[in-house]
Amino acid sequence: MTTRYVFDFSEGDKDQKALLGGKGANLAEMVKIGLPVPPGFTITTDACRAYLDSGAAPAQLADEVSTHLAATERAIGRTLGDPTNPLLVSVRSGAMFSMPGMMETVLNIGLNDESVQGLAAQSGNERFAWDSYRRLLQMFGKTVLDIEGHEFESRIEAMKQARGVSQDVDLTAADLQELVGQFKAVIEHETGKPFPQQPRAQLDAAIEAVFRSWMGERAVLYRRQERIPHDLGTAVNVQTMVFGNMSEDSGTGVCFTRDPGTGEKGVYGDFLMNAQGEDVVAGIRNAHPLHELEGEVPAAYAQLLENMAALEAHYHDLCDIEFTIERGKLWMLQTRVGKRTAAAAFKIACQLIDEGVIDEREALSRVTGQQLSLLMFPRFDRSGDVRVLTKAVAASPGAAVGRIVLNSKDAAEWAARGERVILVRTETNPDDLVGMIASEGILTSRGGKTSHAAVIARGMGAPCVCGAEALAIDFAKKQVTVTGSDPLVLKEGDLVSIDGATGEVFLGEVPVMASPVVDYFEGKLDPAGADTDELVRAVHRIMQIADANRRLAVRANSDTPEDSERAVRFGAQGIGLCRTEHMFLGDRRELVEKLILASSDADREAALEALRPLQQGDFEGIFKAMDGKPVNIRLLDPPLHEFLPSHTDLEVKVAVARATGQPVSEAEETMLAAVRRMHESNPMLGTRGVRLGIIIPGLFQMQIRAILDAFTVHQAAGGTGSVEIMVPLIDTYQELDIVRQEAVALAQAAGYEPGAGHEVSIGTMIELPRAALTAGQIAEVADFFSFGTNDLTQTTWGFSRDDAEGGFFSQYLDKGIFQVSPFEMLDRQGVGRLVKMAVDEGRATKPGLKTGVCGEHGGDPDSVHFFHEVGLDYVSCSPFRVPVARLEAGRAAVATGAHTAST
Ligand code: PEP
Ligand code: MG
Repeated sequence: MTTRYVFDFSEGDKDQKALLGGKGANLAEMVKIGLPVPPGFTITTDACRAYLDSGAAPAQLADEVSTHLAATERAIGRTLGDPTNPLLVSVRSGAMFSMPGMMETVLNIGLNDESVQGLAAQSGNERFAWDSYRRLLQMFGKTVLDIEGHEFESRIEAMKQARGVSQDVDLTAADLQELVGQFKAVIEHETGKPFPQQPRAQLDAAIEAVFRSWMGERAVLYRRQERIPHDLGTAVNVQTMVFGNMSEDSGTGVCFTRDPGTGEKGVYGDFLMNAQGEDVVAGIRNAHPLHELEGEVPAAYAQLLENMAALEAHYHDLCDIEFTIERGKLWMLQTRVGKRTAAAAFKIACQLIDEGVIDEREALSRVTGQQLSLLMFPRFDRSGDVRVLTKAVAASPGAAVGRIVLNSKDAAEWAARGERVILVRTETNPDDLVGMIASEGILTSRGGKTSHAAVIARGMGAPCVCGAEALAIDFAKKQVTVTGSDPLVLKEGDLVSIDGATGEVFLGEVPVMASPVVDYFEGKLDPAGADTDELVRAVHRIMQIADANRRLAVRANSDTPEDSERAVRFGAQGIGLCRTEHMFLGDRRELVEKLILASSDADREAALEALRPLQQGDFEGIFKAMDGKPVNIRLLDPPLHEFLPSHTDLEVKVAVARATGQPVSEAEETMLAAVRRMHESNPMLGTRGVRLGIIIPGLFQMQIRAILDAFTVHQAAGGTGSVEIMVPLIDTYQELDIVRQEAVALAQAAGYEPGAGHEVSIGTMIELPRAALTAGQIAEVADFFSFGTNDLTQTTWGFSRDDAEGGFFSQYLDKGIFQVSPFEMLDRQGVGRLVKMAVDEGRATKPGLKTGVCGEHGGDPDSVHFFHEVGLDYVSCSPFRVPVARLEAGRAAVATGAHTAST
């Protein structure tokens, strides 16, 4: 069967986003539930992919478009290009994931020298008809024909000057007709061909332009930022035009069924009478609050409220809606489950449980770990002396401090040299994306919660304040005047602080303090307290639901008693990785140097003996902090030269001394010789991990004794729990076997019988491909596996974790070789496959083998889902990420239908 590329709006539904894009799927859903949607059809993402692959639209697309266009014409009773009663259509992008403003749109397709007359007659409004034609020429010229927008805009400006008017709306029908003539001349001059008068040719060219815009610069950049795969392609929606700018009883707007900032149910949104949709989103004219629509067009308003309620009831969630009213008649142009702030997401999820709309498990799936981490960011501490410059629209929450910069290019440049910047614009447009990404926060003097700046900032999780009308921006002078009773001039580079949760803008740098959500995790806020705010109560409730549903346990990576205590407060159920290397630094470096430089067994043993009680003390503190819980301690991992002075420094020092005839001490000579001897070209692949333990007699034994003795002291003091001794960087079971035998002997001497599930167990990291590939054998001598996905990623891909991210990664990301660094999000196909294989083969040898992960991926939301799916017992991550891992582990269990409470 051949692929079908076009579907009528009446054929799809909301679950077909991959094929029809989000906009197309939701339009179809609205048609399905009987809402008034202007007729049209969707060209699938398959067609876009075929176009991008071959550079041409698939052969049968033209015929399919003809069939569906005819159906649209029948439904509306007008024909494309009809000189007396023309149908006009819009051609809009609509990808699977929303990419607001990043791709192209062409409106008013179907107008030409003849049908413009028809439109004038049909609408009874000649000015409107010529304005529509002028908009088509301008959009088509820019988008389809790649003509500089300036060519058109400068002519509008010149016309306004010639007529002595300042606003577009003051231009007359005759002025616009003259502009149409000029625009046609521009097109012919720039492209060598006249503007296509044939409506179908306009349509086909516009469809291809939308396909191409998927690969446009800003779309590619946005996808990289949002981690959207580059190979999805966009769908294209061709829809009957309805006009909000046709008359005084026409208008257009956007609305939400709940406040996307707080979750409160109500009538939220903005509208403009006698305007086109783009005018609202671009924030060009300040829009009016939705409830005022009632006074303008009461019947349409009443119907809109009904439709809003119907949509929320249908989607069981906050909906975000675009509508147009054409001569009093309401049309629904778009809906989707609305974006919301992180705080609103938690609150709405709980409100919907209380309203009986969704159950707890569904509520859990409505929030994300990324949203939780946003809520854990600090906020401003207002207890000191702060000067509020203005208060405007709280468009995207968060606290940002930075130097003001007035254009995107400068923002990107300043950020690249390490400055924190706040991008200040009148309003933003898609070309500002580079600057928005580079900035700590965004501040605009126009626009509201639905302006471009607000929508994009919320998507990026960047703080944003919009519509700060008190700011008069002078781009030429690079300064901002804060108007009002106490005016003030800010120069580019001056520091401001913006609070996207309250809409406040402060002069200078305001200090920040912990968020209430962190205070809650820290145990400083009682979630059941009478005056505890709704957000903290919602987070607490969702965390309880996550904990009750998750199968994965969550542990923390921690090397100190303080971090361990915080980890427990944040809900860690044990330590998954205690790195012992930092315990060899500071004052102890001298002892380590002695160990490394020891020339006899006696010297080496003396150095080890000096270190042992210190190590024991470290472990006692951690066991106490983690009382009752498992603690996994890893034996020393990094290459030894990390504890010695730098090779280059020493060489230089000795060379300078020799050249200037100064004495070089024997100690310095010995040290230099040792450093030279130990120098390795690739230390990460050199003498580290278990290799060290094997070649330096007594090192691992010293650590193991310190661990066992500390545990004995802990138990003697009434403490409980268990200890896991972990061997790093093994390639083969023989390495583990050697260390294991020594460890077993020491444990037995201390009165323990090590084994899986016992008080003392001995296991290994799996962090090299060979270890993963031979996991079945290794499991014979391991009580547990812990995946070191940092090293496993580095060695599987063959790139250095220290160099790659600062090196070629940015180009790899640009080219879409990966959407996100594999050090951040686990590469499921490669590294993940090794993990899965090792779990399966390890457990084939030893059923029930305990497995966990302690690489950075243990706290990454997407990776947590993977670890759940392959059946690990726990994930371990830094203490601050523990709540996120708990939440995602719960979500993963709900997503896969597995929900046994964890142990
Ligand atoms: C790892 O490699 O994933 C790991 C946890 O060890 P480290 O980061 O200390 O090398
Ligand atoms: Mg490692």
